[in-house]
This record gives sequence, structure tokens and C-alpha cells, in this order.
Amino acid sequence: MSEIFPCFEHQTDIFDKENHIFISKTNKLLFCPVNKAFLFNSNFGYQEGYKIFNQNKGSIFLHIVEDHPIENLIFMKQKEVFPFLDSASLNIYSRSIQLAKWISNFTYCPKHGNELSVVKSDLAKSCADCRFDHYPKMSPCILVVVKSGSDILLVKHNNGSHFFTAIAGFVEYGETIEGTVRREVFEEVGIEISNLNYFNSQSWPFPNQLMMAFTAETKQRALTIDQKEILEASWFNSSTLPQVPPKISLSGQLIREALNS
Ligand SMILES: [Zn+2]
Repeated sequence: MSEIFPCFEHQTDIFDKENHIFISKTNKLLFCPVNKAFLFNSNFGYQEGYKIFNQNKGSIFLHIVEDHPIENLIFMKQKEVFPFLDSASLNIYSRSIQLAKWISNFTYCPKHGNELSVVKSDLAKSCADCRFDHYPKMSPCILVVVKSGSDILLVKHNNGSHFFTAIAGFVEYGETIEGTVRREVFEEVGIEISNLNYFNSQSWPFPNQLMMAFTAETKQRALTIDQKEILEASWFNSSTLPQVPPKISLSGQLIREALNS
């Protein structure tokens, strides 16, 4: 087994001994439909792997493999995997799929065209002509639920989702995270906020967001909706709550926290 990247110390006891996760070069996850699992205690003959999690009791090795059938297992696309994830397995899947994509797809320097080599001491790749190493791309993204008394503000985005959810947006170059929160709220619903409070964060691998969640307050009730991004926006309370994202997602956790705080 090769151990070319720094390993995370995983905080749960979800795994012990030596486990293996397999992702195809077309970014599909090897999955056992009988056990509804994607961690295996066999390497299925694949000797080379990247040690990507480590703890006292065991490790997880990532294998990037050809899209060939293995025993009675199937390869699943990202959207097919999602219903089978819980918060602990999401953490493992998120690190694995993002690393696999980066290893498989980011292979040439975008400036010089040189083939990149892995930096063994760090999670990076290097180009013979670049002064700096290349690190994996990650997109910081904010979520915010604005409160007014016991009501919370939720929006339905113009992206095909049927959920009402938190206001969301990507951090832009030159912005602070707090600045992004204020800008996104003003752009999407036209209100000013105060009492910004950090809630939690989550690695979200669809495709590579680092989500950071906040609550905030406002004295304004009237909304001016950005109709390009937002289909509907409204104030809700615990008895009028519409369909919201599941608890596995940070937005789902944030909405429940905002309602109960
Ligand atoms: Zn270069």
C-alpha cells in the first residue's frame, strides 16, 4: 500500500481494522447493494491504494480502479450514492470522492502543460516549471438562516429543488465569509442582517464545497426577491415549516437549529 497523502484521524468508530473504498476512473463508487455499504475489508486484489483515514483501530485505503465489475457489487454515480449516506459515511465518502477526482482528473499544469507529480509530504502536486505546488480545488460556500422573533426565513432556489432551504452562496475572491453572508442575504431577499452567529461546517462533495453555516437576525420583514435565483421566499415557524432538506445536510441541521434556538 502506498501512503502518499497525510491521513486524517477519524473521530468515530465507524471502522476498525483495514478497510478499502473503490472509486472508478469515471468517478463511480463501488457499492454493495445487499449490505448497502461501500467500505470493504478486502482489497479485491488491488495492492496499491492511498491511505486516507487512520485511527488506532484501523485505516481506510482509497483505490482508483477501472470500471470493471467485482463479484456482486455495482458502481454508483454520486447522485445514486446520496440516499445511502449518513453523517459519518458522508465524511468518508466526501474525502474519498474528492481525492479520487483530483488524482484522476488534475494531471497537467494548467499554465505550463507539464504532467504533474505528487508531492509526497503534502496533499499537493508539483509542476517542474511552477514556483508553487498545486493544491486541490475547494469551493467555500455559506448558508444562512435569518431569524425574526420565532420566525425563520427560507427560500426556494430556482434550481429544480422542491425544498425550502437556507440562503446560500459562494465566497468570492477578496471577500470575508461574513461579507459573503451579508451580500448573499441582501442580493437574494433585499434585507440587512445583524447578530451573525457561526453554527457549523460540512464538507459537501457535490462537487467540492466547504459549507459554513450561520444564523442571523433582522428587523426587516418585507422581502425583495431576486427572481433570477429565487422562486419563493417566506417567513416560517415550527407549525408552518415546509419541506426542508434532510438532517444529513448542513442546511437541514441549520434550519432545525434556527427553529429551536
Ligand atoms: Zn506549471
